[in-house]
Amino acid sequence: MALRPRAPREALGDQGAAPQYTATLANLTRAINEQLWNDTLHTYSLSLDSFSNYSLTAIAWTIHSGAANSSQAASSIAKLDELRCGVGYKLGSGDICSDSYEISPNTNGFLLDSLSKAHRDLDAFKRARSFFDTSAMQPILLEQYMPGANVTSDDQILQYIMASSYQNWHASCTCRMGRENDSMAVVDSHARVIGVEGLRVVDASAFALLPPGHPESTVYVLAEKIAAEILGTC
Ligand SMILES: Cc1cc2nc3c(=O)[nH]c(=O)nc-3n(C[C@H](O)[C@H](O)[C@H](O)COP(=O)(O)OP(=O)(O)OC[C@H]3O[C@@H](n4cnc5c(N)ncnc54)[C@H](O)[C@@H]3O)c2cc1C
Repeated sequence: MALRPRAPREALGDQGAAPQYTATLANLTRAINEQLWNDTLHTYSLSLDSFSNYSLTAIAWTIHSGAANSSQAASSIAKLDELRCGVGYKLGSGDICSDSYEISPNTNGFLLDSLSKAHRDLDAFKRARSFFDTSAMQPILLEQYMPGANVTSDDQILQYIMASSYQNWHASCTCRMGRENDSMAVVDSHARVIGVEGLRVVDASAFALLPPGHPESTVYVLAEKIAAEILGTC
């Protein structure tokens, strides 16, 4: 399902593999919705063996992957309150919330991303803010610095989000690598500018797609590989 936004092979113009990825994705989506959507819970069941339980990860993942349609996403998001535990969430509805419960920050980051994907930026913002309203956080906090306690209405919050959001400094893919028949490709697989003699682009702009995670090590790999090619050592 992680393939949904842009299957890597599809992004590289591999038309042979793209239909296979697309068909697999459609089959997975159908199976998840036919087998795991639970009309009684109004969200996805944890598994076929645990049909009356649901999980935070499944909610985040089905929204993120696009398996959940907008009404499934909305009703799944509404279930999140039942998973609240301290400053975060229990992973599953069957878990018992206690002081020793371990809350995974990674999963919650994934959840925030999913809320944003479901065009629920306001919900994500309010949820993040609510972490700081808990009794666990209050004793160690001073006055709210950003956006400030006076920013309360949906319009004010949305304005703040629009004014302060950014893409985390990972500019890339503006001269993307691809096949000659790909109209969006600027360089070929040797980083040579297509249609131009003696010119290569060797930096993050030549990525075909932005790999998950931070890009710097991938820039090094790309640079090492093309440098070795130029030197004739690979
Ligand atoms: C604030 C910030 C934090 C980041 N944190 C991380 C992180 O923690 N981990 C991570 O993996 N990535 C991080 N990144 C992303 C990472 O730094 C970049 O993806 C990576 O450096 C891109 O490498 P590059 O070679 O494509 O470009 P750059 O590193 O930008 O190199 C381009 C070089 O070209 C030079 N240049 C530009 N124009 C000319 C010209 N006309 N003539 C000569 N030289 C020129 C520039 O001076 C520069 O040295 C961060 C980026 C930013 C901005």
